[in-house]
Amino acid sequence: MITRSPANVQIASDLSPPSSSSSAPAWQRQLAEVVRDPVELCRRLGLGESALPGARDGHALFEVRVPEAYLSRIRPGDPDDPLLRQVLPLVAETDAVDGFVADPLEEADHTPRRGLIHKYAGRVLLIASPACAINCRYCFRRHFPYQENSPSRAQWQATLDYLRDDTSIQEVILSGGDPLAASDRQLAWLVARLEEIPHLKRLRIHTRLPVVIPARIDDALLEWLGSSRLQKVVVLHANHAQEIDGEVAAACARLKAAGVTLLNQSVLLRGVNDRVSALADLSERLFEAGVLPYYLHVLDPVSGAAHFDVPDEEARSLVDALRDRLPGFLMPRLVREVPGAASKTPL
Ligand SMILES: *Cc1c(COP(=O)(O)O)cnc(C)c1O
Ligand code: SF4
Repeated sequence: MITRSPANVQIASDLSPPSSSSSAPAWQRQLAEVVRDPVELCRRLGLGESALPGARDGHALFEVRVPEAYLSRIRPGDPDDPLLRQVLPLVAETDAVDGFVADPLEEADHTPRRGLIHKYAGRVLLIASPACAINCRYCFRRHFPYQENSPSRAQWQATLDYLRDDTSIQEVILSGGDPLAASDRQLAWLVARLEEIPHLKRLRIHTRLPVVIPARIDDALLEWLGSSRLQKVVVLHANHAQEIDGEVAAACARLKAAGVTLLNQSVLLRGVNDRVSALADLSERLFEAGVLPYYLHVLDPVSGAAHFDVPDEEARSLVDALRDRLPGFLMPRLVREVPGAASKTPL
């Protein structure tokens, strides 16, 4: 999710390939059936020929990947739809722009174990799955095709030993990719091992899956998550109110009923949510679904995403104007990720 992992963090995961067999859970079938063809995406949304060259060129750099549940929320025939902008490649992705690089963050020093990033006090990030259900065009990961390797239990054991040995760690954050792309069997196993470590208090999950495939929040997931002794936080990733339809709200309600605290992080994106009204509507819609805004990230300068950039000055004045409209508890914190810093950096 938005806590991205550098290229040289090896993935600690034994993610099974998505299955389309009828015995698989509904969410896994939806994951196996995501739209991966840029021409199909344009055709399904009634976009004209002019969208095709960009869609094809961008797809060659970072493949198109759109779940049906997300596609259904995009207005057909509108090239400026804020959800479409997040998934449809534009010709601009192929432009080289000064300052936008393949690897804007350098975090290699903080990976004491395979798939584990320990940068901030009291909390660590575990890469629980390299896969994502959706490919967001602005993503920092777009240049890192994670190999889907299957580390052994012994490698997980080394991570668990690290957590057991450092009693200052109170919180484990499952990240990726998208950690909820892993199977419930794998996640239940991992969480059971974490629960055995007495000084761990909190389990946090950074995921976009409940937004893009709300069927992911099914009984099997609620069983291992709801029964955990750890305090549970799920940090969603939605950037626009239109992403949160009735199914997403229902998935949020299921998580809440299982005792999960729900937060959201967004990225400030040109043409998606770079207006005060869009940001206000997002906060309001999130709260209707039982979710509090947490972070609003400025874009990482990753090559291919420069057309999404909103300059710092504009970001600050947008957030100042937002403060005039919203109650304080609906205000996201505007932050940037600075390599080497011990926390997210407020703007
Ligand atoms: C963002 C991030 C976290 C979580 O930071 P919070 O401010 O607690 O949300 C933890 N570890 C790493 C490496 C991160 O990038
Ligand atoms: S869900 Fe989107 S933004 Fe998050 S890691 Fe996957 S591609 Fe990147």
